Amino acid sequence: MNPKDLGELLAEPRIARRVSVENLMLVSLGLRMCSQTTIPAELPSGEAMGAAIDARFKPQMERLRAIQDQKMKIKAIGEIRKGMASAFEEVVEGSPDYKALASWAKRLGLKVNQVEVRPTVHEVYLYRERDTLKELQRLTQERGKLRVEAVKRPEPSRGQLQFAYPEEFNGPWIRRMGRLLGYPDCCVDRYASDREQGINVEERAATQLKELQGEPDPHTYLASYFFPCTPTCEKAKARGELYHSKLSEALPEAGEAYEAIIRENLERVRRQPEIIGEYLSRIRGA
Ligand SMILES: [Zn+2]
Repeated sequence: MNPKDLGELLAEPRIARRVSVENLMLVSLGLRMCSQTTIPAELPSGEAMGAAIDARFKPQMERLRAIQDQKMKIKAIGEIRKGMASAFEEVVEGSPDYKALASWAKRLGLKVNQVEVRPTVHEVYLYRERDTLKELQRLTQERGKLRVEAVKRPEPSRGQLQFAYPEEFNGPWIRRMGRLLGYPDCCVDRYASDREQGINVEERAATQLKELQGEPDPHTYLASYFFPCTPTCEKAKARGELYHSKLSEALPEAGEAYEAIIRENLERVRRQPEIIGEYLSRIRGA
């Protein structure tokens, strides 16, 4: 990556800085095998796009609730899903934000694997090597099987989450994806075993910070949505330091941006249980 590209990417208003640095630059520099960006949520106008699609389907969703006949209901759900998929294409994939992400990926020589989680939620994986794509495809396929399994044999203790994110309850799947995203083994193992045991990872990580003597090193919080096994994990810290120094070498401003981002990551982990609480009360209130 040349300094000119890095500088222009940092100044790109249609991509969140966090996404530019963690998801584009680190993969482009060969420091991460792969990154994951959820869309539209992680696009700058993501919230507005989500709201626009929701508003468009509100009348149909309300009518759906009134349908008693099972056959009619399944047909109506199928129509809504189809409509949502084309709304996603139009609103999200047609947006300047999405186009900016796609064109920057191309400019940096990154490959894109886009996976549909739901008709209106996709994941964009950026990667460089063919082997990474193969592993991503295997994981996507397995997630599909886990979803079928969850619908067939739901686990009452897991609630609604198991249908939307069945992989979050599968240790081996989490471990493989965590490695692909460049997280240290010890942290991935802890995350996976917590999830398997039904321990709330966000609560655990926030509590660890609360109980920590002294100030944590932000380098340990090397990427957003990453939870280190402990706030003093040496492996995570070393990796964050490596990312920081390589980015600074490539362009000092990129290093500075990363430093600000990992501080935000640390603060987000501190506040994560509250953030989730606010989110849940918002969707329940809606
Ligand atoms: Zn660790």
